[in-house]
Amino acid sequence: YTGKTGSELLTEKIKKFKVQDFQQIPVVVREEVSVYDAISTMFLEDVGTLFVVNEKSCLTGVVSRKDLLRASIGQHDLNALDIHIIMTRMPNITVCRKDDLLLEAAKKLIEKQIDGLPVVKDTEDGLHVVGRITKTTITKVFVELATDSAL
Ligand code: ADP
Repeated sequence: YTGKTGSELLTEKIKKFKVQDFQQIPVVVREEVSVYDAISTMFLEDVGTLFVVNEKSCLTGVVSRKDLLRASIGQHDLNALDIHIIMTRMPNITVCRKDDLLLEAAKKLIEKQIDGLPVVKDTEDGLHVVGRITKTTITKVFVELATDSAL
């Protein structure tokens, strides 16, 4: 018997959670996609954040719902406006990697006040997007911890 309290055991458990065990499939678009098509993709794929990549499939930006709303209330032709004009761009993108603690990813979401993080893999060309961690991911883990399923 270790003499550990329930809360110590819970903390230990949470600190074993890695990004790779919970990451979801990312939705990625090219820089040349129009704002109109990005909005369609967001509805079709049912996500709140799109990750933007270049011709080498490397991360160049992020587009959120509010970015698209902002562009839509301006005087723009949404079919003629490319996503790379309105996206938040590198190097200002907050990322995480598969071996990171899920707790660290959650802290980044809070600190940066954002809904999601791309899970990236380092390559010679840049960062490849391999997954995503969102507020929903963290909410699911929270509920699973309370119901103490197979975690
Ligand atoms: P929403 O705008 O739909 O509320 P967010 O809170 O995630 O969604 O986005 C707020 C702003 O932060 C947007 O301008 C978006 O482009 C940017 N953003 C979103 N995710 C990231 C990220 N991982 N790194 C840097 N900026 C981001």
